[in-house]
Amino acid sequence: PFEQVELQAPDPILGVSEAFKASKEPNKLNLGVGAYRTEELKPYVLDVVRKAEKKIFEAKENKEYLPIEGLDAFRKATVDLLLGPSHPAIKEARVAALQSLSGTGSLRVGAGFISRFLKGRTVYISNPTWGNHRNIFGDEGVKWEYYRYYDPETVGLDFKGMMEDISAAPDGSIILLHGCAHNPTGIDPNPEQWSQIADLCIKKKHIPFFDVAYQGFATGSLDADAAAPRLFVDKGLEVMVSQSYSKNLGLYGERVGAMVMIVGSKDVAERVLSQLKRIARAMYSNPPTYGARIAAEIVNDADMFGEWKTEMAGMAGRINRVRGELRAALESKYPGKDWSFVTSQIGMFSFTGLSPAQVDNMTKKWHIYMTKDGRISLAGLNSAKVGYLADAMVDSFKN
Ligand code: PMP
Repeated sequence: PFEQVELQAPDPILGVSEAFKASKEPNKLNLGVGAYRTEELKPYVLDVVRKAEKKIFEAKENKEYLPIEGLDAFRKATVDLLLGPSHPAIKEARVAALQSLSGTGSLRVGAGFISRFLKGRTVYISNPTWGNHRNIFGDEGVKWEYYRYYDPETVGLDFKGMMEDISAAPDGSIILLHGCAHNPTGIDPNPEQWSQIADLCIKKKHIPFFDVAYQGFATGSLDADAAAPRLFVDKGLEVMVSQSYSKNLGLYGERVGAMVMIVGSKDVAERVLSQLKRIARAMYSNPPTYGARIAAEIVNDADMFGEWKTEMAGMAGRINRVRGELRAALESKYPGKDWSFVTSQIGMFSFTGLSPAQVDNMTKKWHIYMTKDGRISLAGLNSAKVGYLADAMVDSFKN
């Protein structure tokens, strides 16, 4: 029965890392996956994470199962980070929060919820978006469509197209939005545009679903980066949110995140949580303990919380610095082209506008590994490599 199984192509993002590892070129550079690297291009474990781990180790807690909905201290910390601890929705107990397997697992539980309770509705995702969104909704049997987002002419937001498509979607559709630092473009709506999107969702009875994978990474501030989902909740919308601690706490492999739904009443929140638990039970039963303890220790301790914010601002700051250096290098090597997009985009990525053939040139000739859509992860760049990357980009754009 297994003879008929066809070979699946490598994942378009994680496959880049596999190709990078296999390369023997001394100059090779991995700008594929969105994982933070130090100036030495090494993986980074936050000092505050090490500190929390020490505390956890010394507390000698047991290895019992967590409840299906996860660790209470973690769920509280996560909702506090998202809405701000004194938000009325928290006081009114109308927030359902399920600890899940990082952003991806949370999205998948959310997709399971849509397939069961919002049957027949379509999820609208931005064009382009993080490639896994299509898999996650598709594998749950949820229909998805694109809305326009990126304008190649301006290397900016196609706000008009976005609003037209969200407007044309049937009433009550699910609109997937990136909470901040849109992946792959690095282009977010401005506050006025967010407000208009929220008003349109109200008018159309759409359900906004925020994918929050970079809170703290766009501006370096947790509060500023949660402004969009908070605005939608404050306007009275019921909102679905997936949250991830992969990037902001550097807990990639620990799979720490949550599926959160802010709904109309305490009663609805209780019923919604009961169903999220039912979905998780069949999918993986209980979430992992270790990473959730780390996150909870940090967020619920004033000193460690402060240290985290400082380290996060440091990571965001390093990325912004190399952004500036890359723009300057590109401007000096190829003054005829407008490179302002490099610094107007935010978060981990820059969407360069390189075509698939130009990306091939980047990889084959220059050994710079990146996704086919022209996205580069600036978290994988340092000052020493800026000139080399700029040479490769200029060569690729000119050919
Ligand atoms: N959403 C977006 C937009 C992402 O970029 C990512 C990570 N690349 C995720 C979700 C999920 O990541 P994780 O499962 O590691 O939390």
